[in-house]
Amino acid sequence: MVDEQKVKEEIVEIATRCYDHGLLVAGDGNISARVAPNRIIATPSGVSKGWMRPEMMVVVDIEGNPLEPSDLRVSSEWPMHRVIYQARPDINAVVHAHPPYATGFAVAGLSLSKAILSEVVLTLGCAPLAAYGTPSTRELTDAIEPYLEFHDALLMANHGAVAYADTLEMAFNKLETLEHTCKISFIARALGNENTIPDRAVEKLFEIRERNGAMRPEARTGQVCSYTPAISPIGPISMDNHEQITLTRAELVELLVESAKLFQR
Ligand SMILES: [Zn+2]
Repeated sequence: MVDEQKVKEEIVEIATRCYDHGLLVAGDGNISARVAPNRIIATPSGVSKGWMRPEMMVVVDIEGNPLEPSDLRVSSEWPMHRVIYQARPDINAVVHAHPPYATGFAVAGLSLSKAILSEVVLTLGCAPLAAYGTPSTRELTDAIEPYLEFHDALLMANHGAVAYADTLEMAFNKLETLEHTCKISFIARALGNENTIPDRAVEKLFEIRERNGAMRPEARTGQVCSYTPAISPIGPISMDNHEQITLTRAELVELLVESAKLFQR
């Protein structure tokens, strides 16, 4: 039996951390935890994450209907949580925020698709950019749904970021990792060079993360960035045929050379 009071306190702890770390402001974002198949505890609508108390948490079913009397309502962004829980039975916690660097990427039309940090390849993989969808509508859930199976964190165009995991702590860690990686990527780009980890080294990281059970082997090709175009014959997979990608001259030359090698085999 899940101790629901403890879950409410943990949600408040994470809401406070999100607020204190500047991952959201005012009434932004929302956090939820699934405590039974059709019973979810979530942050209420319209209350700043810096002012949350455990008794403010709302208890809802998967459709967002209240299961306990409360003066507060669940967030209007509930459909985002619903679609994640429905798509991923292994997920029991969702953290959605508007972290400045991750949201900056989402506003600039960038995904986090390059293997720049070994720890991130091991723990998170890539974070794709879902197309813009009006919050609280089907547009948004339709935009994120195709990415849910193989990714644990997403950027949402002109909106923010969402991360999800088995536990609240892990979901928060994934969101924090996403934001930290976007910040490092931003700094590397500002310094003029964002080097990536070589394909063969990425393959070794894949082996380690699969051995550790951090990610299924299918994620290698199921994630929108394969990270290893030379190893995956069909190259980086994108769910969005209209997604624009930018390559440096060096990356383009590397891609052409690796493609030529594939034809020589
Ligand atoms: Zn939002």
